Amino acid sequence: MPATIFPFTKNSNVISAPTPTPALSELLARYDIPGPRYTSYPTIDQCTESVGAIDFEDALRSRCLGGLRRPMSLYVHVPFCESVCYYCACNKVVTKKHDRVAHYLNCLEREAMLVAKMAAGNLTPVTQFHMGGGTPTFMTDQELLGLVQGLKMVFPFAANAEMSIEVDPRTVDEVRLLSLRGIGFNRISFGVQDFDPCVQKAVHREQSFESVELLMKAARRFGYESINVDLIYGLPKQTPESFAQTLDQLISLSPDRVAMYGYAHMPDRFRPQRRIHEADLPDAEGRVALLAMAIERMQSAGYEYIGMDHFAKPSDSLAVAKRQGRLHRNFQGYTTQPDADLIGLGVSAISKVGSVMVQNTRDLNEYEDSLSRGHLALFRGHACNRDDLIRYSVIMALLCQGSVQFADFSQSHWIDFDSYFGDELAKLEEFMTQGLVTLTPTGIEVTTVGWFFIRPIAMVFDRYQHLRNSGQSKVL
Ligand code: SF4
Repeated sequence: MPATIFPFTKNSNVISAPTPTPALSELLARYDIPGPRYTSYPTIDQCTESVGAIDFEDALRSRCLGGLRRPMSLYVHVPFCESVCYYCACNKVVTKKHDRVAHYLNCLEREAMLVAKMAAGNLTPVTQFHMGGGTPTFMTDQELLGLVQGLKMVFPFAANAEMSIEVDPRTVDEVRLLSLRGIGFNRISFGVQDFDPCVQKAVHREQSFESVELLMKAARRFGYESINVDLIYGLPKQTPESFAQTLDQLISLSPDRVAMYGYAHMPDRFRPQRRIHEADLPDAEGRVALLAMAIERMQSAGYEYIGMDHFAKPSDSLAVAKRQGRLHRNFQGYTTQPDADLIGLGVSAISKVGSVMVQNTRDLNEYEDSLSRGHLALFRGHACNRDDLIRYSVIMALLCQGSVQFADFSQSHWIDFDSYFGDELAKLEEFMTQGLVTLTPTGIEVTTVGWFFIRPIAMVFDRYQHLRNSGQSKVL
């Protein structure tokens, strides 16, 4: 990958927005559209009430049939937050009542036991454990320790399991970071979003650069193997000057990984976003300028683009895996771990075992009621058919390797790629014309610039997306 895809100045002190070439500027604007993040295919919105606990139990019981030993990934959702960030689209409950945690922990424990019982001995080592939310650090260290210890008694954890946690910098200090390390977390992700005080005020999430800097330094001292920072572009009050400053501050902290998400303003769907003044949002052109600048600055600072909004240092395991063609993608995003079955615990959590995907209710009271009565709180699911599995393989090959070889793929999936995907190959010509993919008689290759548009390229192979677009399926 070249140092930069844009003809920008290398002088990082220049804070005006760089001007992409017209073609690239047009591409960024054209594909700045909401779309799935493809942490699964089909996406979770394809779930219906017709798939539930019985299908999940069957999938759990048969996961080791034929000597299969797929590892397990475990996710725990903690819904509580002390205050609301106005851009938020997560499943959360805003409360200051920390005594709500005890009952929730009790439900998590019941849920873990129920899942383990359903699996009837077909559990394999957990190689990846992730806590997200909400705010996992809404819990005290003692509560987190109890939870992790309890889970380890139910599920076998691999000795070298990746254990990661999302941390709201406002909720921790150095002492807590050390405690989290002691509990076993070896990866940490800080939600920063933007360092500019005006932007922070506009989204109701105020935290100083100095406080984050202190935490990042401490995390490094305490031996966290990977430190991630989340930023968001397209927030209210963001300007090229303010975002340039945020990027420079971020780069000075030298995180191993950076996730750069685009803010999607959907106030009809996410109530907190109604408190964002639309007049404060950058327009379409402004968003493109922010994204273009972010890409340029991250690359100039030596970060490699992994795909789907993620950057990593060349030495980070994700960047190494990408170069070696070993990248994977699952519900927790890009990973170096081989495909694993996912067990999700907590309100709104998703599980995927074999070809069955299920989701817990998104209502906390319903979740707690179900578990209190001794039942899982599943409310919908999806059992993948053969077409889903074939398309899953194409989409993951594009997202992780940027390449699909027709002969190998056809042989592995018992299809003739050209005829199976005739319509999709025709649609890809649009991307080929723009230099984002190369199409040859033997395969598809995503170009260097094409990696920045990997989501719309993958969407070409998403059958449900086409059905939605043509009005034949429910809309997201
Ligand atoms: S962004 Fe995170 S901390 Fe803020 S309200 Fe949403 S879940 Fe809570």
